[in-house]
Amino acid sequence: MSATLETDEHKALRAAVAALGRRYGREYLTRTVAEGRRPVELWAEAGKLGYLGVNLPEEYGGGGGGITELAIVLEELGAAGCPLMMLVVSPAICGTVIARFGTEEQKRTWLPGLADGTRIMAFGITEPDAGSNSHRITTTARRDGADWLLTGRKVFISGVDTADAVLIVGRTEDARTGRLKPCLFIVPPDAEGFQRRPIEMELSAAEKQFELVLDDVRLPADALVGGGPSHAFGSGGEDAGLLQLFAGLNPERVMTAAFAIGMGRHALTRAVEYARERTVWKTPIGAHQAIAHPLAQAHIDLELARLMMQKAAHLYDAGDDVGAGEAANMAKYAAGEACVRAVDQAVHTLGGNGLTREFGLASLTTAARVTRIAPVSREMILNYVSHQSLGLPKSY
Ligand SMILES: Cc1cc2nc3c(=O)[nH]c(=O)nc-3n(C[C@H](O)[C@H](O)[C@H](O)COP(=O)(O)OP(=O)(O)OC[C@H]3O[C@@H](n4cnc5c(N)ncnc54)[C@H](O)[C@@H]3O)c2cc1C
Repeated sequence: MSATLETDEHKALRAAVAALGRRYGREYLTRTVAEGRRPVELWAEAGKLGYLGVNLPEEYGGGGGGITELAIVLEELGAAGCPLMMLVVSPAICGTVIARFGTEEQKRTWLPGLADGTRIMAFGITEPDAGSNSHRITTTARRDGADWLLTGRKVFISGVDTADAVLIVGRTEDARTGRLKPCLFIVPPDAEGFQRRPIEMELSAAEKQFELVLDDVRLPADALVGGGPSHAFGSGGEDAGLLQLFAGLNPERVMTAAFAIGMGRHALTRAVEYARERTVWKTPIGAHQAIAHPLAQAHIDLELARLMMQKAAHLYDAGDDVGAGEAANMAKYAAGEACVRAVDQAVHTLGGNGLTREFGLASLTTAARVTRIAPVSREMILNYVSHQSLGLPKSY
């Protein structure tokens, strides 16, 4: 028996998801996007097989695993050319936040649907005037009797058109100090005062991005994740907002790493297949080291990024939120960079064909860059490591 980093269960999950991914493949996703549709067939089948909710608790219909397993699902679908970006948002961020901090009622209402894919939740934190500086968000909830009134703007929110609710990060005023503190609200997209506008993106992806305007959106008390301050669970709701937010961010980063590694592997595989066959001198172009070495480097970078992603997922699943924070940031950085380089090199390896529709690689160049900027940019991760890991002073 050879030593291995992954358990037999993980390997079996990887193989099973890879087989599902191969049955759909890149062509399926390209066709779906061209038709202006969403990959509902793949989403439904993956949900039925239990892959979309592997990380969610068993008692609410999930697989009882962790972010390790969900990352395997996303990586393998991506490697097959059909990543489902909403996996990052719906079960990983929103599912995690609700499973860890939701009231019993919120868990029963949302988790079974998020787990089998019949319900989808989007996640909105980014604001036009705050961007990377999430301390500056101004979406604010104020009390109106037992209800909340939520007002603000969000931008680049993925999948709102597919979502049964959007988990919106806002702020409420601390009754004692008057300071604004973060809070998470479950907002139905058909609520009065909630408007969405699609943003035209240069991306060939199944998920659309939206700008949201919330104008005094009236929400019942139980729209607040964890319930209000008077809730039986006491520590939930308004006081727990920051904790809830951070709980969702580590899975988000691990999953973005999985998205990036899957896409990078897909591009690299296409390039290697091509480089083995394409011959314009005496040997296939893959025999030229100028072609072979960058592909080998891309492979090494993706493998290294995966190791860090596995570390981050392992720490997170073991309950070490702080350790997972550093590793998840590093994994997302490494994976984003590895993905951008792998896709760039793959496009280059195919020469002119790298830019054709038929080979479908050029469209990945913009998609790959998403992993460098979202959900947290390369520079903000370098800032985090500079300050948190190295103890260097801040410039901002
Ligand atoms: C396809 C896509 C999907 C997305 N989906 C979602 C979603 O579902 N939900 C959601 O809430 N958000 C989503 N986002 C938003 C994403 O998280 C933001 O785009 C990202 O956080 C960066 O914010 P920004 O675009 O405002 O850039 P800015 O904050 O304006 O940054 C612009 C540039 O300045 C750099 N920069 C900023 N501050 C510093 C600093 N202190 N030091 C050094 N450099 C700095 C950044 O690294 C970046 O390169 C999505 C974005 C994209 C592109």
